[in-house]
Amino acid sequence: MALMITDECINCDVCEPECPNDAIFMGPEIYQIEPNRCTECVGHFDEPQCVQICPVSCIPVNPEHVESHETLWQKFQRLQSAA
Ligand code: SF4
Ligand code: SF4
Repeated sequence: MALMITDECINCDVCEPECPNDAIFMGPEIYQIEPNRCTECVGHFDEPQCVQICPVSCIPVNPEHVESHETLWQKFQRLQSAA
């Protein structure tokens, strides 16, 4: 599943450099996650790094991008081959 950042984000800047897929970027007001790049850290880490580090717990699953582990793994492999 891709994750998403809610409007509870306080723009603390700590999650963006932790993302192994460069999926986190600054939007018009708060940070956002590009669903096509978020693998929920599958392929890199056991746990989503942004969720681990976010001080206000504002990174839930994106309900519009519910994906299986297999799909996330395929996304990881696609991103690796495109790198
Ligand atoms: S779960 Fe992992 S891949 Fe997805 S945005 Fe967070 S750090 Fe990046
Ligand atoms: S760690 Fe959480 S509060 Fe900080 S910028 Fe990222 S989403 Fe926003």
